[in-house]
Amino acid sequence: MELCDKSALSLAAMLRKREVTSREITESVFKRIEEREKTINAYITTDKKGALKQADQIDKKFLKGEDLPLLAGIPLAVKDILCTKGIRTTCGSKILDTFVPTYNATAVDKVLKDGAVIIGKTNMDEFGMGSSTENSIIGPTRNPVDTQLVAGGSSGGSAAAASSGEAILALGTDTGGSIRQPSAFCGTVGLKPTYGRVSRYGVIAYASSLDQVGPIGRTVEDCALLLNSIAGHDKLDSTSADLPKPDFLQALKKDIKGLKAGLPKEYFIEGLDQGIKSRIDDAVKLLEKNGVEIVEISLPHTKYAVSVYYLIATAEASSNLARYDGVKYGFRSDAEIQDSIMMYEATRSEGFGTEVKRRIMLGTYVLSAGYYDAYYLKAQKIRSLIKNDFDKALKHVDFIITPTTPCLPFKIGEKMSDPLQMYLVDIYTVSLNLSGLPGMSINCGNVNGLPVGMQLIGKAFDEETILRVGHGYEMLKS
Ligand code: GLN
Repeated sequence: MELCDKSALSLAAMLRKREVTSREITESVFKRIEEREKTINAYITTDKKGALKQADQIDKKFLKGEDLPLLAGIPLAVKDILCTKGIRTTCGSKILDTFVPTYNATAVDKVLKDGAVIIGKTNMDEFGMGSSTENSIIGPTRNPVDTQLVAGGSSGGSAAAASSGEAILALGTDTGGSIRQPSAFCGTVGLKPTYGRVSRYGVIAYASSLDQVGPIGRTVEDCALLLNSIAGHDKLDSTSADLPKPDFLQALKKDIKGLKAGLPKEYFIEGLDQGIKSRIDDAVKLLEKNGVEIVEISLPHTKYAVSVYYLIATAEASSNLARYDGVKYGFRSDAEIQDSIMMYEATRSEGFGTEVKRRIMLGTYVLSAGYYDAYYLKAQKIRSLIKNDFDKALKHVDFIITPTTPCLPFKIGEKMSDPLQMYLVDIYTVSLNLSGLPGMSINCGNVNGLPVGMQLIGKAFDEETILRVGHGYEMLKS
C-alpha cells in the first residue's frame, strides 16, 4: 500500500513515530496525481511547490518535538468554491477564471492552522450547480472506480481525489447533496454538517440558506478528524451557531448497541435501484444484529422535496449571482459595447455556463412580482412541513437510515441533455439541506463493482450519533 492510500489517522500515527515525513506523504500524493490525474481530472489547480513548502515546515516542527494537531502534515484537497488567499478560486466558472482571493475562507484558515497541507483546488459543477461535475470549465471529473462514469457532483473533484489517493482528505460543500452524492458514487465517506456548524465565511455563495462545508475522506474516523478542525462558531458568519464544539473523534468510541433507527417508507419506493435497496437491507440487518433497534417511520412530505429545493435554490442563486457583473471580479467580455448594461449582458452571457443561466432565469422568475406567492412563498411553507416531518420522526428515533442516491453512478454525458433526470438524482439528499439537518454517506458495498452509499441522518447538531453509527458499521463490515 502506498502512503497516499493510507488513512489520515494512520499517517498521523506514523508521523508521530517518525516512521514517515509529511514531505514523503505529500510526494506520494503528487506521484498518484501524475499517474491518474490526466484521466480523472479531479483538480482545477494544484500547488506542488506550496504543498511541499508547507510539508517541510511541518516536518521541522515534528523534528523539534512540537506537539501538533492530528491533521498536521496530512495532504488535503479543497473544493474550488472555498476562497484561498493567493490561490486562484474559480468555482468551476469562466466568470471567475482569473479570480485570486485576498483572504481565506474560515474553514481553510482552520485546516491551515492545524497544519494540513493543501494540495490544490478541486473540480466542481459551476457554482455547485449539478450532480455530476460535468458543468465545469475544465470538463468532467471521472469516477476513479470506473472512468467511463461520472464522479457525482457538485464536489466530484473532492470525492474523486480522496477516493483515488490524489489526496488523503478533502473539503466539499453541500447545498442539496454535493458532499454525500459524489461520496456515494466514488465510495468515500462524506458528511454534511448541521447548517451553522461550520462557517460559510469565504465560501462562494450558491444558495445561502442551504450551503454547508463538510469533510470527505476514506473512513468515518478521518471525517471526524477533519470535522474537528473546521467546526465551530465564527463571528464572521452570522448564521454560524454559537454552540460548544464536541470532540467528534471521541464520539466514535461509544457502542452502537441500544440506538434506535428509523427507516422512512417514502424513501424505499419505485425508482430506487433494486441493487442499492438490497445493499441497504444488508446493512440494516447487520446493524440490527448488533443491537440497533429498527422501526419504520414516515416523512409524508418527501415527494415535494425536489420541487421545493429547486425553487428555493434557484431563487437564492439568482440573487447571489447578481454580483458577477464584469466589474468586481474575474472575467469581463471584450465584445464591442456602447454602455454598461451591454457590458453586463455580454459578460454574463459569455461568462456563465448553460446550467447556471437556466437557474438564474428560473430563480428570477419565481421571485418576480406575480409569481412570488405562487412559487417562492409556497415553497418556503412546504419547506417548513418537510422540516416538521423530520422533527417529529427524530423525537422517536436517534437517527434515520436511507439510500444516498436512487441510482448507481451513470455514464458521462448520459443525463446532460435532460436536466430533470439530473435533478432527480438528489431526491434523497435535498430534504436535509431544506431542514438544516446533518447527514453522512458511507459505503455499504457494491453492485456490479460500483459503490453504494448509505445515508445516515441525525438530529440538529448531533453529528456525533451518525459518526458513531457510521464508524460502528465500518468496524462490523471489515
Ligand atoms: N445537485 C444539486 C444542485 O444542482 C446539489 C448541488 C449542491 O449540493 N451544491 O443544486
